[in-house]
Amino acid sequence: MRPCPCREPHPLRRVVLTGGPGAGKTAVLELLRQAMCEHVVVLPESAGIVFGGGFPRRTDDASRRAAQRAIFFVQRELEAAAEGANPAILLCDRGTVDGAAYWPGPDTLWSSVGVSRLTELARYDVVVHLRTPTSAQGYHTDAHRIETAEEAARVDERIALEWDGHPRVLVVDATTDFVTKVRLALDLVRDELPPCCRTHPVHVPGARREAGSTRERTHEEVGT
Ligand SMILES: [Zn+2]
Ligand SMILES: [Zn+2]
Repeated sequence: MRPCPCREPHPLRRVVLTGGPGAGKTAVLELLRQAMCEHVVVLPESAGIVFGGGFPRRTDDASRRAAQRAIFFVQRELEAAAEGANPAILLCDRGTVDGAAYWPGPDTLWSSVGVSRLTELARYDVVVHLRTPTSAQGYHTDAHRIETAEEAARVDERIALEWDGHPRVLVVDATTDFVTKVRLALDLVRDELPPCCRTHPVHVPGARREAGSTRERTHEEVGT
């Protein structure tokens, strides 16, 4: 986060970075956080707050529904809390819509929390979906990433379905190298910035900006 002299009131834009497990979301967000001015506020992942704070991570349906409701409300209030800092962009580590990908049924997350899916899709201006790699593409489990490659792929597919219908989704294929992922996200975030905050130099190692390199397509794969 770089200090920014601009004190103009900013119209608020919400950008979501999403993806199944292992897609590189956290690392991309960390680089963006360092590169952009202070008016790009990177939110923590609400699931990390909920589970990291001790919410039980059980596999029965009642527990899963309770956890997704908790994550939904934490996400919504994280976004509300960040609005006080005159941000130009809220960069969300997943959005409220992602929880639906983890919802076990038989009802929907939306009916359970009393909102409509369309309202939640409309919260966000742009969505970047980093696809989860297969095992052959380098997916691996660790202490925090407990899903198998197959489970991760299923979640990733459901995430794509839940965001389906949003007018601006940039899908980044798992085979895309990390530097390209960062550059695509960086260009996209910068395009959403108001002119007053757009002029800062951006220093990301190896992620030099190329004019016109943002390729935004609706539900199409972006390859390397
Ligand atoms: Zn500004
Ligand atoms: Zn700024």
